[in-house]
Amino acid sequence: MMRPINFCSGPSALPLSVLARMRDELMDFQGSGISVIEHSHRDPRIVQLFTDVERQLLAALGLDVGYRALLLSGGATLQFSQLAMNLLGQDGVGAYVTTGAWSEKAVKAAAAYGTAVEIASAKSSGYTEFPAIDAWNIPEDARYVHLCTNETIHGVEWFGSVAELGLPVIADMSSHILSRRMPMHTYDLVYAGAQKNLGTAGVTLVVIKSDLLDRCQLHPGTPDVLSYAAQAAQGSMVNTPPVMSVWVLSLMLDWLESMGGVDAIEVQNRAKAALMYGAIDASGLYHNPVAEDARSWMNVPFVLADPALDAAFLAEAEAAGLLNLKGHRSVGGMRASLYNAITVSDVQVLIDFMHTFERTRG
Ligand SMILES: *Cc1c(COP(=O)(O)O)cnc(C)c1O
Repeated sequence: MMRPINFCSGPSALPLSVLARMRDELMDFQGSGISVIEHSHRDPRIVQLFTDVERQLLAALGLDVGYRALLLSGGATLQFSQLAMNLLGQDGVGAYVTTGAWSEKAVKAAAAYGTAVEIASAKSSGYTEFPAIDAWNIPEDARYVHLCTNETIHGVEWFGSVAELGLPVIADMSSHILSRRMPMHTYDLVYAGAQKNLGTAGVTLVVIKSDLLDRCQLHPGTPDVLSYAAQAAQGSMVNTPPVMSVWVLSLMLDWLESMGGVDAIEVQNRAKAALMYGAIDASGLYHNPVAEDARSWMNVPFVLADPALDAAFLAEAEAAGLLNLKGHRSVGGMRASLYNAITVSDVQVLIDFMHTFERTRG
């Protein structure tokens, strides 16, 4: 039987070869005789694993010098609070661009630690576009600008440049990190939960420019485990780290390299998105509401012209081995998440199914 294709928005599909390596290598880490998850995190092999993952990640992102990669816990959700705890001091100002559900949560969370100002919002469009950068109204005393460069629920992606903003820029890249070549050096802090494009839940990547790391101003009462500076000084091991998830991340980075790196993945992801939006735009049944210049390559929401067909679409898709296509409840309809592990031919299988459904039911 064919293995189902998992279009889940997160946790996401993993490459079969990564799952196979997990199975094959779980029992014996690097000839030590015991599993990676049984070792002390102070064991030199595990310390080396963390060092290698940091180096491999920064290289994949195109950031060799001047940045650190921290391997933390708590998901991207904790970063909404943690970045404010580290950068706003007693009561600093953070500037927020609101482009959907995730950036809404980020601005709300930060308000507990300082002043979080919304400087632009796409809410009135129903989150179907990205607010133009010249309309971002940044307060003079802001310590940073925060944006979510791929809104997973609404399928809205940032393709613009933040190079000229003149203050630190922070991005939630949870659902599109390493999906294509991006000008990473124009960002001062980037974070991402691993369970979308980088592996499995449990580890959250925080990439931070060294000079921002040096200028962190902790909110009073912030514990060491939530301090970027303390985590950086202790190799992301202030306490017992999620070694299993970091190990899966290392296998994902090996896989990415074996695929030809980010540039090769970009070619594939561009083709997948073009196929998917092309099929939707050519159809009379399916519709995607997002402005053309903001359509996400990774998350493609679409609605059916007649919502009464939704249940049949999902049931028939599942029977055909196409899983997790239901859209987020706040948007309705469907969503196909096309993370790195999804291939061009997986997308073609989905499109063939959509054509057949339209012909027989539409
Ligand atoms: C999934 C997601 C989150 C939340 O991630 P957790 O790891 O579950 O906390 C935050 N931001 C974006 C853009 C996401 O896609």
